[in-house]
Amino acid sequence: MAAEKKLTPMMQQWHEIRAKLSDDTLLLFRLGDFYEIFKQDAERGAKLLGITLTHRHGMPMAGIPYHAADTYMQKLLDRGIKIAICDQTETPKPGKLVKRELTRIITPGTRLADTQIDANRNHFLLALDLGKKALQAAWLDLTTGEFVIASEARPENLFAAFEGIDPREIIVPEGAAQSWADTEGSFGELYTHICDGRAVTPIPDYHFDVASGTQSVMDTLGVLNLEGFGIAKDHAALGAAGALVHYATETLCAKPENLRQLREYSTKRTLLLDPATLRNLEIFKSAASTRQGSLLEAMDGTVTPPGARLLERWLCAPELDLEEIRRRQDCVEEFVAAPGLTTELQQMLRGIRDIERILGRLQNRMRNPRELGGVRDTLNALPGIAVTLLEFPETPVAAIAGRIHNFDTLCEKLAGGLADELPGKIDDGGTIRDGYDEQLDHYRSLTRDSQKWLTEFELDEQARTGIKNLRIKYNGAFGYFIEVTKANLALVPEDYIRKQTMKNAERYTTDVLKEREREILHAEEKAIAREEELFNGLIDAILEYADSLKETAAALAEIDVLMGWAGMAREWDYCKPSLDDSDRLQIDQGRHPVVEQMLRDQRLGLAGTHAFVPNDSNLSSSGDKLPQIALITGPNMAGKSTYIRQVALIVLMAQSGAWVPARSCQLGLVDRIFSRVGASDELARGNSTFMVEMNETANILNNSTERSLVILDEIGRGTSTYDGLSIAWAVIEHLHPKDASGPRTLFATHYHELTQLAKTLERLENYSVAVKEWNDEIVFVRQVVKGAADRSYGIQVARLAGLPTTVIDRAKTILQRLEADDSSHNLLRKRMKKEKSGGDTRDEDDQLALF
Ligand code: ADP
Repeated sequence: MAAEKKLTPMMQQWHEIRAKLSDDTLLLFRLGDFYEIFKQDAERGAKLLGITLTHRHGMPMAGIPYHAADTYMQKLLDRGIKIAICDQTETPKPGKLVKRELTRIITPGTRLADTQIDANRNHFLLALDLGKKALQAAWLDLTTGEFVIASEARPENLFAAFEGIDPREIIVPEGAAQSWADTEGSFGELYTHICDGRAVTPIPDYHFDVASGTQSVMDTLGVLNLEGFGIAKDHAALGAAGALVHYATETLCAKPENLRQLREYSTKRTLLLDPATLRNLEIFKSAASTRQGSLLEAMDGTVTPPGARLLERWLCAPELDLEEIRRRQDCVEEFVAAPGLTTELQQMLRGIRDIERILGRLQNRMRNPRELGGVRDTLNALPGIAVTLLEFPETPVAAIAGRIHNFDTLCEKLAGGLADELPGKIDDGGTIRDGYDEQLDHYRSLTRDSQKWLTEFELDEQARTGIKNLRIKYNGAFGYFIEVTKANLALVPEDYIRKQTMKNAERYTTDVLKEREREILHAEEKAIAREEELFNGLIDAILEYADSLKETAAALAEIDVLMGWAGMAREWDYCKPSLDDSDRLQIDQGRHPVVEQMLRDQRLGLAGTHAFVPNDSNLSSSGDKLPQIALITGPNMAGKSTYIRQVALIVLMAQSGAWVPARSCQLGLVDRIFSRVGASDELARGNSTFMVEMNETANILNNSTERSLVILDEIGRGTSTYDGLSIAWAVIEHLHPKDASGPRTLFATHYHELTQLAKTLERLENYSVAVKEWNDEIVFVRQVVKGAADRSYGIQVARLAGLPTTVIDRAKTILQRLEADDSSHNLLRKRMKKEKSGGDTRDEDDQLALF
């Protein structure tokens, strides 16, 4: 208690504010030109920032200059530290404790400043709640206002979406977080995986209440019900949405003002991918976790950050809606046909600013004059873009152009109000143009006149006193003064009043100067205040158009993505796929979009070598004329994985609305893509390859439908050959139901025994990736041909890899001996024979399983 009493009023203020924050938050406390950090925060902050820790009356403290605060904050945020900012909320007056308030808490998921966010990526905050019947989720990007809810009875179906949105922070109910991680089975695993490396913030469970969540969501959106968004009042995910609104309000220290829409993400309307498939197919990141080498990068021809962000959102949720897919494809087609216009438009788009995010900041009290300049410049560019888009009359592109609004009035207002060159801060002055406002002009002219007056005053005083180097100067602490060097002190007249003594000079004032000083400072203060008023007026004028600005920005982002796709389609000779409700998948001369680009990069200058070899793919789930399952054999390195992945990627691209790397492509909509390929990243997490493989396989067998696409690569590798072979065998049989359709499947394997299945499964067809043999060496031709591979060529591939000749020769001898006496082969052959003649094969099955 005694210690408490000794606290200065300012430290009391600090304590009160600190008490509202969680322990792990670092409080930056504004004190004049510094943000000070005190006590426990100071020790932590000094270490994290590498700044000096000092002590005053035994209390640790550290400070960062206000003007450099951005850089320091960035450093803290990069390390996942939450920062609370406490600012002075009134002009300091001597002898009185200045008012201070918490103005903002910045967490990894609630950053807004453009220096703190990645321009090309969304910054989502995700809230999760696991109910008895379903997983409830909501995600929100405060920088753009994108706000989505989702409810899913099969939690695992949502995790790929989470992986795709790549949340910066995850909000969970306090009571549940740990138990979720410990849940047995796929939910626990998926949850742990999504939290891995991300900020997870538990908040009290009651913030997830559906009824109060619904209310706060409606309040924030400014609506009386959610019907306009097609969302029922009692939608179970509104609890999670409410938790997000609560968290955003708490961290912004105000209601988020840029939320205007709520959308429901439905797994029924989206081509689903599971997280493993997203990773396996390297959609957003390559296996090395870089953007380079990913499908996203290969498909990105955007020239603006909002375009880049939209592309990511589209790839994360490919469509099941034929109309929407065709709309996008048709737009691409128009741009493909008009390369000149497209290039022109892209050039114009490069000049526009990120309106979506500027609005987000303006609406959430982060206002600086340059942002307004951004809006002005963008609005100036719009008519040019709109006129160019008129060249596409009555087409889908014209429909997008129709969403670009006219902002002439606002444009005029901004042009009239804003100066050409804008300062970084409003108090620097110079935001508002001369001649825009009489009052401001008046104060400014007072200040300007004063400057003239001061110059004249200096000359007059020099003449009156005879001191030639007499100067009128100004500084923040002492205001205006007359400076006389020591040598001339004798000439100082009676009416000078001493203000300050310096080493080589004395500083004075006079009654006249004092009077004028008051006027000048008053005028400057008034000018800034008036300027701020006008500035806020302009912001209000912009915000009146917030909705149409947003719609316009969204239209521009769409055009950006679609033109980017058109550019790729031309450059790489893609085709416009034809999509329908059929059960087919027919790709003529398909290529792998990423590998193809990589190969060109590698062979620049080596024309003709290593060009990507295109291949066809033909499947139908009912097996009508086309196989349902393609079983692909061929030596390692032949190109099996590349081939089966390319089919999955082409489907994903097609359902996103893009054109695809093929000569032609006909595709019956796919509801889910499943994959089971490579497990290297899983190994790092300590799961055995085999377990992971079996988990993924179980997922496929349990959840694939006849509309799905399944790609399986080398299944059963993590166990003994015969176990693996038997499992692979049974899996294929399961995917090939008798008298019914099954998922379109590509199965790459090194088990040659499996090729025998073609004899019993009528919808299965054997393929192989051809190699040429030449003098006991092999040459990869990368061509997928009908029929099984006759040999595995493992030894030849090993030779290519540089194994010593002695080892290669020895291996050959062993192989010959094994081939002469291969009981498994014999067994399988016997089984096939019996099955064909309708005999009982159970004996052999039992024996097979025993292997
Ligand atoms: P597998 O799965 O049969 O072991 P991969 O699919 O991994 O073989 O292919 C091995 C390499 O061959 C790839 O890294 C790629 O560079 C090249 N490749 C694969 N398919 C083709 C193709 N169609 N045209 C050209 N190069 C290819």
